[in-house]
Amino acid sequence: MEFATKCLHGGYEPKNGEAGALPIFQSTTFKYDSTDDVAKLFDLQAAGFFYSRLANPTVDFVEKKIAALEGGVGAICTSSGQAACFISLMTLCKAGDHVVACSNLYGGTINLLAVTMKRFGVEVTFVDQRKSNEELSQYFKPNTKAVFGETIANPSTDVLDIERIAKLAHDHGVPLIIDNTFATPYLCRPIEWGADIVMHSTTKYIDGHALSVGGVVVDSGKFDWAAHADKFPEFVEPDESYHGCVYTKAFGNAAYIVKARAQLIRDLGCLQSPQNAFYLNLGLETLPLRMAKYCENATTVAKFLACHDKVAEVSYPGLEGSANHELAKKYLPLGCSGVISFVLKGGREAGVRFIDSLKMISLEVHVADIKSCVLHPASSTHRQLTDEQLKAAGIDAGSVRLSVGLEDVNDTIADLKQALEQA
Ligand SMILES: *Cc1c(COP(=O)(O)O)cnc(C)c1O
Repeated sequence: MEFATKCLHGGYEPKNGEAGALPIFQSTTFKYDSTDDVAKLFDLQAAGFFYSRLANPTVDFVEKKIAALEGGVGAICTSSGQAACFISLMTLCKAGDHVVACSNLYGGTINLLAVTMKRFGVEVTFVDQRKSNEELSQYFKPNTKAVFGETIANPSTDVLDIERIAKLAHDHGVPLIIDNTFATPYLCRPIEWGADIVMHSTTKYIDGHALSVGGVVVDSGKFDWAAHADKFPEFVEPDESYHGCVYTKAFGNAAYIVKARAQLIRDLGCLQSPQNAFYLNLGLETLPLRMAKYCENATTVAKFLACHDKVAEVSYPGLEGSANHELAKKYLPLGCSGVISFVLKGGREAGVRFIDSLKMISLEVHVADIKSCVLHPASSTHRQLTDEQLKAAGIDAGSVRLSVGLEDVNDTIADLKQALEQA
């Protein structure tokens, strides 16, 4: 099936007489005939549902669809993007381990990695992804377990050289985890470029309607855990909490995603709810149409902003002359999403006046919504970062993140125009 067809027909395939739309299995539990049936489920010897903290049929259908869209062997839908990020890393790490992460990540991710994971005993080194692989190699340690980066960074819109960074990770015997939130699998499939694990905040473009917070972790099935058993012993040694199950032996190339569910989803309880998975599926059905339009509208708006005399700088990888344009041509041939970063000449004060003057475009702590919205990162999502960290993340104190929506682009530009005059 082609991408757009998978968006509609992937995952849920109704049989004779069954509902055409994805059913919502609003049930915590599932009924079985014998203790033997249940024992097999608990020992991970049979597939099936027993409790919606671990798995649920509605969620399962959506997981299969997203895995198919990203080109993975399996997926887990989580209650948020933050949960997906945490699960993706903590399936690999324990106290005493180390992660190499790009410094331009989403502010919430930086906080999770630098503060909360540190409290869990995992140390993270933030690096400038533009450095060469030779330079970046110095940050790896014997206890490094993963490399983490974003396809299109939020909010700097920097594009990651996924193929090169995947090689860097593999040269050090660790997997590359990609946050593919802004690109979505429609614009970029990191697994095709060598990424081993992909995660999303599905809250953004995949849900697409600003209805439900969610996340997903996708396993490429390509990382050879057994070949790196010294770094990842939990994949090849018996898990006593599952009656001695050895993940690589029992589940082959799906070892990572099964381990993630069996251990962390079981213990942390952050599986997506069936109702939210239903909404997510609605968003997925129209993902290709929406993404193409976001890209078209954002390109028009980026060109408008680039010519405006009150705008000092526009970051949109789709713009010719953008520092990220060459990488965008390679990794994002269909477009660069609806997110644009720009800096007003008047700095912080002009930014505030501009945002307060907007009439249609709303000020929201959100991005990748169906409606256009703006945010001032330095005073909201990234306010916990120091000026130095802001700079490292590629953000000016006066920069504005604009998420171009699906309104008629002439209305979007008219609103920007009148607000820029006020700035
Ligand atoms: C929003 C966002 C997250 C966090 O996702 P939530 O669904 O808000 O928990 C992670 N990464 C990126 C790139 C995001 O934009």
